[in-house]
Amino acid sequence: MKKHNFNAGPSILPREVIEKTAQAVLDFNGSGLSLLEISHRAKDFQPVVDESVALFKELLAIPEGYSVVFLGGGASMQFCMVPFNLLQTKAAYLNTGTWASKAMKEAKGFGEVVEVASSKAANFNYIPKDYVVPADADYFHITTNNTIFGTEILTDIDSPVNLVADMSSDIFSRPVDVSKYAMIYGGAQKNLAPAGVTFVIIKDEILGKVTRHIPSMLDYKIHIDNGSMYNTPPVLPIYSALETLRWLKSNGGVAEMEKRNIAKADLLYNEIDRNQLFVGTAAKEDRSRMNICFVMKPEYAELEDEFQKFASARGMVGIKGHRSVGGFRASTYNALPIESVQALVDCMQEFEKLKLS
Ligand SMILES: *Cc1c(COP(=O)(O)O)cnc(C)c1O
Repeated sequence: MKKHNFNAGPSILPREVIEKTAQAVLDFNGSGLSLLEISHRAKDFQPVVDESVALFKELLAIPEGYSVVFLGGGASMQFCMVPFNLLQTKAAYLNTGTWASKAMKEAKGFGEVVEVASSKAANFNYIPKDYVVPADADYFHITTNNTIFGTEILTDIDSPVNLVADMSSDIFSRPVDVSKYAMIYGGAQKNLAPAGVTFVIIKDEILGKVTRHIPSMLDYKIHIDNGSMYNTPPVLPIYSALETLRWLKSNGGVAEMEKRNIAKADLLYNEIDRNQLFVGTAAKEDRSRMNICFVMKPEYAELEDEFQKFASARGMVGIKGHRSVGGFRASTYNALPIESVQALVDCMQEFEKLKLS
């Protein structure tokens, strides 16, 4: 049976990315050696990093004055690297979910942290909009897509201070005006590559402003100056990321991804709103295009397990909601074809007929 992969992360990648990665593991560039058994400093591997950086800059139209580096440690490592490198006295955070809360918690060890707004009291089902960012903050941190709660900031907001964004789960899903951000980072395993590599896009001029000692491995400047080769980088996920970036380019880039993602999200949200059995959990104006969360209507709550089994039997994978929201979450990342969303919609309609007629 065909599987429809709605996993939240690690998650679906384009089939050709997986095949090309598998090929490179068997024989890298016709060298007779595996990608896994060559030096990261080999002359064959440097072009992988160089092309990946170049494609990041091209696909996201990154302006002059920014660097792109690939690091280990996941997005969670950035929760501490950001304040380590950027927080001198005060930082502002918008608390829109579990990941935003974790980022904020780490920053508290480095200086004053101002939570400008939080939607925690509503189980993070919306993005707060009325808040003031202190003009004397060193930076303002946002999480553009809240993977767990299914809300997303779909515009590039204006910030009076350096804007830092965790884009782990929506990078490359739409065009972004990078010039509005001082830094964008994310774990690769949602929309880009297998787990193990983290991307960081950073405006060079914001570095070197804090007075504390920064250990080398946590210092952005060291990683930039060494072209992501200060230590052994995660070579396999970087290679897969390159293949995804090539796939993105040959599929029309982020503008085309945005079109496809809007079409997929509309298809599923329209069904959630139409179907008698289900209801969406996120505020309509803040609905994520990447992680679509819905639950059974209260009067049908007892049908949750049954629908889960019904959908699994029809090939749906990874639609169980995160425990902090319950119900269902369908992640509709770039690589997910609209046919999979249609299959889920068909499932929801069939189940409705079965129960209500
Ligand atoms: C998954 C996720 C993280 C955590 O990523 P790790 O690479 O596991 O540390 C952080 N932020 C967001 C928005 C995520 O979706």
